Amino acid sequence: MRQPLVIANWKMHGKSAFNEALVTDFLAKLMAGRAECVLCPPSVYLGQIAGLLDSSDVMLGAQDCSHIDEGAYTGEVSAEMLRDCGCTWVIVGHSERRQYHQESDALLAAKLAMAQRAGLTPVLCVGETQEQREAGEAEQVVRAQLLGALDDLSDYRHLAIAYEPVWAIGTGLTASPEQAQAMHEFIRDVMRELDARSAESLRLLYGGSVKPGNASELFAQADIDGALVGGASLDAEAFAAIVSAA
Ligand code: PGA
Repeated sequence: MRQPLVIANWKMHGKSAFNEALVTDFLAKLMAGRAECVLCPPSVYLGQIAGLLDSSDVMLGAQDCSHIDEGAYTGEVSAEMLRDCGCTWVIVGHSERRQYHQESDALLAAKLAMAQRAGLTPVLCVGETQEQREAGEAEQVVRAQLLGALDDLSDYRHLAIAYEPVWAIGTGLTASPEQAQAMHEFIRDVMRELDARSAESLRLLYGGSVKPGNASELFAQADIDGALVGGASLDAEAFAAIVSAA
């Protein structure tokens, strides 16, 4: 039995006053339920959000981490610094980072190892573009992303995977529950090849225009164990409703 997991990815949104109102309102609306919940604000606000989450069960995560432990790397934030700020989770390989920062599978493999070494649980994001889906390459692309980033990982227990079809992110288009389930089932099969034992307990999240209106039918699918939520996580009521649906 996999405990549902719902993660908020604020991306590059937020400001101190907005953050405080959002988190306070979200915590007030959140009902005790089955799901684990993680907020991933921009890294400059991690300290602020850690303070606001202090007495709640909601956990803190980051949107990225460096693949290097420490040194003269201007602008980078290490996994250990994130842990030190109260994070227990980190998103790795979001499609926006793959696209705008040319993050390769090899780089992501190094980030995953660094995150786990610092005591963070990484959430590896995978997903195909519209062109790749139309060309019938979706499974091939996702398989290559999984193997490219995870082949050398030694710990498959402290890990989650988010399937985020690029064409569904921030577009209002959502994969149908059946489309999403089919890819999640495929991902779990690939993970069985890598580590048969942990594949059953590994949590697979769906991401891409998840909203209160479509969350329940996505969560009802056998291999969908939660969600990675962008836009709707910036609305306290919507995000609380998604977490409650899980
Ligand atoms: P979205 O973003 O919910 O706004 O589509 C999801 C994500 O990019 O993680």
